[in-house]
Amino acid sequence: MSQADPAFLAHCRELLGQAHVLTGAAAMAPFLADWRGRFTGSAQAVLRPATVEQVAALVRACARWRVALVPQGGNTGLVLGSVPDASGAAVVLSLARLNRIRAVDPVNRTITVDAGCILQHVQEAAALAGCLFPLSLAAEGSCTIGGNLSTNAGGTAVLRYGNTRELCLGLEVVTPQGELWSGLRGLRKDNTGYDLRDLYIGAEGTLGVITGAVLKLYPQPKARVTALAALASPAHALRLLGVMQDHCGASLTGFELMSRFCLDLVAAHFPQLPRPFAGAHAQYVLLELSSSESEAHAVALLETSVAAALDADVVEDAVVATSVAQSQGLWQLREHIPLAQAAAGKNIKHDVSLPISAIADFIAGTAASLERAFPGAQLVCFGHLGDGNLHYNVAPPAGAGERQFLAHQDAINRIVHDSVDSYGGSISAEHGIGALKRDELARYKSPLELQLMRAVKAALDPLGIMNPGKVL
Ligand code: FAD
Repeated sequence: MSQADPAFLAHCRELLGQAHVLTGAAAMAPFLADWRGRFTGSAQAVLRPATVEQVAALVRACARWRVALVPQGGNTGLVLGSVPDASGAAVVLSLARLNRIRAVDPVNRTITVDAGCILQHVQEAAALAGCLFPLSLAAEGSCTIGGNLSTNAGGTAVLRYGNTRELCLGLEVVTPQGELWSGLRGLRKDNTGYDLRDLYIGAEGTLGVITGAVLKLYPQPKARVTALAALASPAHALRLLGVMQDHCGASLTGFELMSRFCLDLVAAHFPQLPRPFAGAHAQYVLLELSSSESEAHAVALLETSVAAALDADVVEDAVVATSVAQSQGLWQLREHIPLAQAAAGKNIKHDVSLPISAIADFIAGTAASLERAFPGAQLVCFGHLGDGNLHYNVAPPAGAGERQFLAHQDAINRIVHDSVDSYGGSISAEHGIGALKRDELARYKSPLELQLMRAVKAALDPLGIMNPGKVL
């Protein structure tokens, strides 16, 4: 890739105006640092287009001058996919100004949006039309639809509604040559050859720039009810999942596992949050049911199911939220785990998925291997158990030096990811690969899968300008 060419930046300024080609260190800083503050890259400029035509013209300019570009939405990604490398050769293409809700079709139950729309704004636009856009994650106030699609984001309602891929019917993409592919179809059935939409979803900006999308809407549930169950082990949590699915079917929309260590961390750093149980338990599950009938129906279903689990000794104790405030309090416990971890210090994070049936064995087996190699290492294990997705984070032993412990990151990754692999799991459930897990991907994907992925990349982006160094 070329180093800074003044003619390239002059052309970008002609396209966008001076104000939207950022080159000063202070102006660029928020676009160059990753959300966790682990890495700060460097760039020629941050480009801020406001229209699809501007995006296409900028990508054509990048192709002409051989400048690498890093698409960026809300920059909340957790795998160093949205920030440039340290060379200073790339530009960041921020989609934040491309943020119009283009159309809502309540009959087709679709919403068409620009890629830079913030997820929460899409949820709000759907609600105004009396519908639900169900994608929900703790970063929803900042992350964008383009980023959600490019990482195939998961979140807390995957159990019922699926990942972002399942919520997308059509895409609009600027190719690495700067051409515009309009695949903004609102069709639930469309078997017309290779599915280009699915190729771009989850591509982390390495194959093109997503500029728009047609997303699925759902009926707004009449009620949502929440409960917190206390259990003896992950195996009991799996049994509870079975009980809840048998009793509630598709009404079960959330099933989040949290270990005692996680809730102790939250209690230590956020003492104002509720403590639902007097005693301590080894594991907790946050449950959410949605009902298309009524709140009374949802509460009755939840109470009956939880009572069945108590009778069968699956659950040790449970509280059912009786108000919206109580329900929010329970969700806050879950949402504050990452914040409590950050307040407690650095740890080694893993976002893994497993066949649901293997989760209890995985947790026990991996913990034993880690204890053998790193006695006293503390596990911050929580996640979307209903989807087989765990955030399996490893913190230093109490009182141990953080820096010394983090130096063992590669060895700890090897223990965790080898264990994931041995159970047929994935080393990235919902955050993607980015630059952070690129070498891990090369280790765990088969040579044939890697070869096919490289062939797709070379066919679509022969100049290699799209987010180089990410994924592959
Ligand atoms: P960015 O971080 O800006 O970019 C992410 C990737 O997508 C990069 O590779 C980037 O190049 C590419 N990209 C962005 N926009 C485009 C575009 N328009 N076209 C092409 N490529 C593009 N993730 C989950 O899946 N589930 C969770 O529950 C979850 N919880 C989170 C909680 C917190 C507190 C935080 C900080 C993050 C969480 N994340 C979660 C991760 C993150 O929010 C998601 O990955 C989100 O989808 C990223 O969206 P973004 O707009 O911030 O994308």
